[in-house]
Amino acid sequence: MVSPQAVEVLKNELPLEQENLVLSGEVKTGLVLVDIINGFCTVGSGNLAPPSPDTQISGMVDESVKLAREFCEKKWPIYALLDSHHPDVPEPPYPPHCIAGTHESNLVPSLQWLENEPNVTIRRKDCIDGFLGSLEKDGSNAFVDWVKSNEIKAILVVGICTDICVLDFVCSALSARNHGLLSPLEDVIVYSHGCATFDLPLHVARNMKGALAHPQDLMHHIGLYIAKSRGAKVVSDVLFDIYITA
Ligand SMILES: [Zn+2]
Repeated sequence: MVSPQAVEVLKNELPLEQENLVLSGEVKTGLVLVDIINGFCTVGSGNLAPPSPDTQISGMVDESVKLAREFCEKKWPIYALLDSHHPDVPEPPYPPHCIAGTHESNLVPSLQWLENEPNVTIRRKDCIDGFLGSLEKDGSNAFVDWVKSNEIKAILVVGICTDICVLDFVCSALSARNHGLLSPLEDVIVYSHGCATFDLPLHVARNMKGALAHPQDLMHHIGLYIAKSRGAKVVSDVLFDIYITA
């Protein structure tokens, strides 16, 4: 197991300064929910779900629900990515997971109400990177269209896993923005407490053929660090200006 001291040493070598985000409505902001579905978040829901209650994952779900409620109250746009695979198409290196049409590929119970909200776009994807997973057969991209049609200038990204689906989506969105594909998008913002990753400590991974160790706290930190190094903003608090002026 990675000792807490070792994690602290590594975090000191990769210091991550985080900002506060204040959302006032002046900058049109969209919320992106990455894979907050049973197959990754609900205990016992398949091969990639937490085997037992996990505070980082449940905290991520709680924070995402709070943000989703605020965005829906204000009728601000939400883009929800849901991992959904055809049963005959594997996704190496992962075992079968989130098969389309099953409980695993659906939003967690505390977010299922989003399916009926008019400001929410739900996008089922069959790959790790939600930007690629938004490609349509005709070459258009549902995420690009969502940004443009809503005139979004900033996206706030939450979900799971910090260092996998969240990171890949963030990196692709940043590259697309830099390449002039996402105008008027300016900022890609990651909310650290709204993200989580899975835990596979070294002493467990050692006994699983082919498994790579994946200590949760460290990989979460590294995911955020790489996102920031690519140009994302990483924030530790999201405030709505109504709370500040009240
Ligand atoms: Zn998948």
